[in-house]
Amino acid sequence: METTLKGVRGGAPSVLDMDPKFTVGGGVEDVYGEDRATEGQLVTPWTISVASGYSLLRNPRFNKGLAFDEKEREAHYLSGLLPPTVLTQQLQEKKLMHNIRQYQVPLQKYMALMELEERNERLFYKLLIDNVEELLPVVYTPTVGEACQKYGSIFRRPQGLYVSLKEKGKILEVLKNWPERSIQVIVVTDGERILGLGDLGCQGMGIPVGKLALYTALGGVRPSACLPITIDVGTNNERLLNEEFYIGLRQKRATGKEYADFLHEFMTAVKQNYGEKVLVQFEDFANHNAFELLARYGTTHLVFNDDIQGTASVVLAGLIAAQKLLGGSLADHKFLFLGAGEAGTGIAELIAHEMSKQTNAPLEEARKKIWLVDSKGLIVSSRKDSLQQFKQPWAHEHEPVKDLLSAVEAVKPTVLIGTSGVGRTFTKEVIEAMASINEVSLSLSLSLSLSLACSQSDVRLNGLQKPLILALSNPTSQSECTAEEAYTWSQGRAIYASGSPFDPVEYNGKVYMPGQANNAYIFPGFGLGLIISGAIRVHDSMLLAASEALAHQVTQEHFNKGLIYPPFSNIRTISAHIAANVAAKAYELGLASRLPQPANLVKYAESCMYTPNYRTYR
Ligand code: NAD
Repeated sequence: METTLKGVRGGAPSVLDMDPKFTVGGGVEDVYGEDRATEGQLVTPWTISVASGYSLLRNPRFNKGLAFDEKEREAHYLSGLLPPTVLTQQLQEKKLMHNIRQYQVPLQKYMALMELEERNERLFYKLLIDNVEELLPVVYTPTVGEACQKYGSIFRRPQGLYVSLKEKGKILEVLKNWPERSIQVIVVTDGERILGLGDLGCQGMGIPVGKLALYTALGGVRPSACLPITIDVGTNNERLLNEEFYIGLRQKRATGKEYADFLHEFMTAVKQNYGEKVLVQFEDFANHNAFELLARYGTTHLVFNDDIQGTASVVLAGLIAAQKLLGGSLADHKFLFLGAGEAGTGIAELIAHEMSKQTNAPLEEARKKIWLVDSKGLIVSSRKDSLQQFKQPWAHEHEPVKDLLSAVEAVKPTVLIGTSGVGRTFTKEVIEAMASINEVSLSLSLSLSLSLACSQSDVRLNGLQKPLILALSNPTSQSECTAEEAYTWSQGRAIYASGSPFDPVEYNGKVYMPGQANNAYIFPGFGLGLIISGAIRVHDSMLLAASEALAHQVTQEHFNKGLIYPPFSNIRTISAHIAANVAAKAYELGLASRLPQPANLVKYAESCMYTPNYRTYR
């Protein structure tokens, strides 16, 4: 007896009942079963059956292991296939968490979790949801980075779809090999810039798999609606090309027209196969392709780049929240970035949009408050001709400045943001300069305040006395400075958040809680918002809506601890609020296709979320 439990799954047809590809006798016909076939076409007489017995235990979507109760064991031919005891899902969870905690090596924890996902999907998500703070670093950064590096050796079963250059001209057929048909989110990488680890070619698959696990655990998107894809156009990583166990194409990366045509075939096939409303999230593409893909497909497909847009949205949320801590508004600040790539320019642009929205000033004016330093120094107008296009809006009038410390002294920022991928670049001198510049601003504002109304001067005074330091580069070793360095060198005055997590720091008898600007705050709720509204395009103002919703979740209690992000343990509620705000924006812009608009979008988002508790089988 074989496989699908259509009734239990609630209607999503499986490959067995509607596969267009397979035909008796070899030929490929693009028809959906007998209903649609003309007399001249070949059809396969698929039948639907119910999973039971041994095959049910080996079907990760329906398997419950020892949690099958007596009635289910009887009804589904499981008697004797399991030991007599019946466990609750809670007890199974307790046992597995105990086992996972025994592993000392993070990669072993990762492998244990992946095996669980392949064995019992609901239990995997139950663990992830209930222990999110503990398991997030295992299924995602930093452990997933190591998993990608060693993917060839730990590879057991394919967890997503591999679309390689070998499939050129047949990508649509490859997509049809995937067993699920109602896909809502695709996360795709070409593996060229995996985290801060560089080109990992086909082994980048760990990233889409990990991100989609978070889509389900944190955003409540059904696992069957998620499709991880790795596009393999080769790799320039010599080590991998020469490695015995490498799983990808052994050739240099395709570039130029060959690359663009292949990606175009992919994007066209995706829309053809899954329709207008499937979300395609680009992940860990090198920046020369990332910006181009986003620009090229942003007007024809529902696309989102987490490295550019997700990062921008989560950082902006932290900055909006920080205003409540500091007083004043975004426009009272001056921003300096170290690193002008996907993350840096993406964040800069979204800050400018929010500032322009808050002050009604033109975007160009808002951009003037934001400065970026790249590997050649401060981005200034005299460098404009040699700059990549995405850096050009930031080339302001200024004489050339070569290094970060000089740039800090020249620009006098109130906010310093590290997005260079290079560790230890916020040196003691840089942090001390930030602390002292903002102290000078404090005394300046004190003298200014004599002529200002009292309440207004208080705002300025509060607004300028603390430097905001965001060290966003990952993994931990690449962080521009540690939390301890930021607090110590600024004598406890910095507000600090980082890309990778840091423990609380004790300085001068006070405990400081560093925040983490983790993209996982935003993308699951953002994606859910697009899905529940049936959005067909992503608009910048939806990113602002997501930032505002996240910032809104930071309470006075969190501010009292110096936090500018809410605790992760609350992430499902946070995601529902983000989804509701994003969906509301989609409706407002006329980009939503799910009509009519639900009256209470937060409740609606919550009601759409996947829950991992076992279902009862008849
Ligand atoms: P990227 O390659 O697109 O950009 C890096 C930029 O840094 C480039 O402009 C490069 O010229 C510049 N750079 C390199 N060395 C430099 C140096 N010594 N001095 C000044 N500039 C230098 O990469 P990206 O996607 O923008 O990611 C950058 C970093 O940000 C990575 O470490 C990534 O992990 C991190 N990141 C963090 C978050 C987060 O915290 N939520 C999100 C995304 C990316």
